Amino acid sequence: MDLLRECRSGLDSDSVPELPELEVLREYFTPRLANQAITGVWVSPKLSFILRTPPDDFAKELQGGTIERIWRRGKFLIFDIDSHHLLINPMLGGRLQWAAASEKVSKDTLFRLTLSGGDELRFLDSVRMGRVYWVPAGALPTVTGWAELGPDALEVSQSDFAHRIRRHPGELKNLLRNQAFVAGIGNAYSDEILHRAELLPLRKRSTLKPDDVSRLHTATQQVLGEAIAAIRAQPHYVPQKQDRSFMAVHGKGGQKCPRCGHRISELKARGETTNFCRGCQH
Ligand SMILES: [Zn+2]
Repeated sequence: MDLLRECRSGLDSDSVPELPELEVLREYFTPRLANQAITGVWVSPKLSFILRTPPDDFAKELQGGTIERIWRRGKFLIFDIDSHHLLINPMLGGRLQWAAASEKVSKDTLFRLTLSGGDELRFLDSVRMGRVYWVPAGALPTVTGWAELGPDALEVSQSDFAHRIRRHPGELKNLLRNQAFVAGIGNAYSDEILHRAELLPLRKRSTLKPDDVSRLHTATQQVLGEAIAAIRAQPHYVPQKQDRSFMAVHGKGGQKCPRCGHRISELKARGETTNFCRGCQH
């Protein structure tokens, strides 16, 4: 089963998994992988494009290891394996696959781990833009961007959110996507959160009143929490194709706003789409 979708017509930023998709992956993998030993490792020479550790060393060090824990921080999924961490941020084209060993191996597969139960965890990346790191315990701060990560967007308290936001005077959409502010939000969920908070994406943070900040915090946690529940409830639980039809405005340019009925606006820049409602976002 493919766990993250292959894009229908070319890759775009909307295919990038964000906090809710990765959280559901974490939930999905935990009972399947925790405490399983890695009995076989296969790596593609192409893995060297996205992994700093030489693929042969990576394979040798993984062999015989036990997956002790799977956790998430922001947009990273982290597998604790003996005295190392395997970090995966799928980005544009990366996806994880949980497969029977007999299942056909896609040409985009960069590595396969065979587990003691007989199934395989596979990582595929058609555009090789994903981020994969293999680091010793204690070396997480050496991972690019890790040391700067803010608190997880699902867990940040209202007071911490209100305190941290003061450092960022700029546009709200950029602010929500800034992983140093809070971690886990990208292009799609920033639109959803701003719609819920009734704030325009290009509005400057410096114009917000304390009530607006508090509403933005509430919207962040509601939207992410509801998205996790929606993805979890999808027919295949972890869908073959990333299904974001539950969203209110993102990907719905030209349709009616579910809150006020106004036509949803769409802006495109650098291959990324921003959707919002001029009727009820201010
Ligand atoms: Zn509206």
